[in-house]
Order: sequence, then structure tokens, then C-alpha cells
Amino acid sequence: MVVRMRHTRAHTANRRSHHALKAHSLVKCECGNMRVSHRACPACGRYNGKVVIDFAAKARARAARKEAKVKAEK
Ligand SMILES: [Zn+2]
Repeated sequence: MVVRMRHTRAHTANRRSHHALKAHSLVKCECGNMRVSHRACPACGRYNGKVVIDFAAKARARAARKEAKVKAEK
């Protein structure tokens, strides 16, 4: 909270003492890549041992979209 009053330097510094950013804690995924803990792996799409993001299906869908676009342009 910032109050509209005169601030001492100490008051400002006390408030800002909580502003530092912490580094993300990285853990090693079962696929060998590093990933942010409590997040799905960006390399294999797994979370807690289960595939939650199917990157192969996404790539297939993207290719199909691109193909449809190329066909439409012809
Ligand atoms: Zn992984």
C-alpha cells in the first residue's frame, strides 16, 4: 500500500524490501529436460508422469491447418 503522505527513505525501503524477484526452481523432467516445478514439461508435455499436452497431435493439427490454407489460396 502506498499512502499519499510524506515518506521517509526508511519507509520506502521497508516497502521495497519485498520487491525482489525469486528465481524459478527448476527440476529435471523424466525426459531429461529441465522444467519449472509444478508446470508441464515444454519438451515432452508431461506432468506428474502423464501426458497432458500432446505435442504430436498439435503438430499434426498445425500441419493440417497450413495445408488447408495453401489449398484455399490455389
Ligand atoms: Zn519432459
